[in-house]
Amino acid sequence: MKSYQAWVGGEWVSAASGNIREICDPGNGEKIGTVPEFSREDVVHAIDAARNAFDRGPWRAMPAIEREKLLFAVAQGIRAQAREFAELETRNCGKPLAESEFDVADAANCFEFYAGLATKLHGETMSVPANSLSFVLREPVGVCSQIIPWNFPLLMAAWKLAPALAAGNTCILKPSELTPLTALKLAEVISQAGIPAGVVNIVTGPGPGAGEELASNPKVDKVAFTGGTATGKRVMIHAASSIKKISLELGGKNPNLVFADADFESAVDGALFGAFANQGQVCSAGSRLLVERSIHKAFVAAMLEKIPRITLGHGLQAGVKMGPLISAAHRDKVESYIKIGQEEGATLLCGGTRPNGLSAGFFLAPTIFDDVTPQMRIAREEIFGPVLSIIPFDTEQEAIDLANDTEYGLAAGVWTKNIHRALRVVRDIRAGITWVNTYHPTFNEMPWGGYKQSGIGRELGLHGIESYLETKQVNINLDETPIGWY
Ligand code: NDP
Repeated sequence: MKSYQAWVGGEWVSAASGNIREICDPGNGEKIGTVPEFSREDVVHAIDAARNAFDRGPWRAMPAIEREKLLFAVAQGIRAQAREFAELETRNCGKPLAESEFDVADAANCFEFYAGLATKLHGETMSVPANSLSFVLREPVGVCSQIIPWNFPLLMAAWKLAPALAAGNTCILKPSELTPLTALKLAEVISQAGIPAGVVNIVTGPGPGAGEELASNPKVDKVAFTGGTATGKRVMIHAASSIKKISLELGGKNPNLVFADADFESAVDGALFGAFANQGQVCSAGSRLLVERSIHKAFVAAMLEKIPRITLGHGLQAGVKMGPLISAAHRDKVESYIKIGQEEGATLLCGGTRPNGLSAGFFLAPTIFDDVTPQMRIAREEIFGPVLSIIPFDTEQEAIDLANDTEYGLAAGVWTKNIHRALRVVRDIRAGITWVNTYHPTFNEMPWGGYKQSGIGRELGLHGIESYLETKQVNINLDETPIGWY
């Protein structure tokens, strides 16, 4: 079992108290490492390191092309150890190895995309109605706290660090206390790439202590958070104390709409993948399946026929399509929703139980509820597990109304061969990400984020780097005569 340390000010450090936390493999319950358990005071040291690196270090003044080269080196470092990263990710968060491999490649792509953007940032100028030369400079926001969840540990670290660094900021990143290992491995790559000391700091510790310090400390200029909506609200309150810039990527109860004119087979695949990829622990999971009533019964039957192909097991085992949930506590929460669904009167079509022979890990069989009504809690609340709620509909307008009947607005899918209908639905759905005849693919080039209570701001693409930039107006008087106002 490896003892990891946190990465602060260009050094590997332990918690001042010496406290550690054991990290477990959710697929078999084995202990796979220990990490420092940072107190708020330990986090303050990391914030000071990032503040110092921003205010006095070489990073923000470095020519953008040098930052670009260093970020390309980070991408290369990830690729050079892709296998090690993927296995560590699967051992720490449970997802099947093929999904981890995809995430690792995507994390490297993310660093490459933003490496390229570092040299493309530019200001602007406008003709103004006075004898002045006015222009706009774009500058880094400053010191950025970045708090990430356990469902895509390495990828979320890349989504946060890459744009912030490309823009010249310094960062303190806190992975989830459950899944810190690939972020700490990323720190190794970052240091080997030659990113100066203090520019990136990776701290480990509990949300309520370490995370709250990151969200509230007045030396921090911006907080970027991904996680549950309830925690996001707390982060927002803490950040308000010093009016920090804030971006939030929160939960969803995302509708996936299947019309009778869709390609049936593709829609069945898309409905299952949308709901069950990464054990359903995805903010954009298509957890509400809206199916046109005329095909509802046939569609449900086709889905059930495919369910046995979702092989459960440890993510490192060949052929496994679904790993464990992240923790025993989280599985308890998901199971409580299964009980709620049954009490509410929905029909449990499959799953709802722990699979046989896998009792060492936190497994739960893929679960589908039919006859769900829009007011049921399993239709409204984010379960964040392999639980799909099916609601039939009769008309396009009813489908759109059902899709929008949620406090969230992260993502939505629509399956139809009718281009007019597809575009009408996309236009009318209140969500930040929409898919037509597919579900889940996204690209580093395109913005990611939600409407309503799914968040504030956008990550990725050009929008993602915008949120790490300040805007400065420069106004130069070209008229040498005094203004003579008084
Ligand atoms: P949280 O949203 O609580 O955790 C996300 C991150 O925030 C973690 O790094 C966590 O640290 C940190 N954190 C927790 N509390 C605070 C705090 N008070 N101040 C600052 N940071 C904090 O997710 P959970 O793991 O508790 O999951 C709860 C629910 O959130 C899930 O069931 C799911 O519904 C939703 N969720 C949504 C995600 C998304 O991508 N939209 C991702 C994860 C969860 P630590 O791990 O140390 O507590």
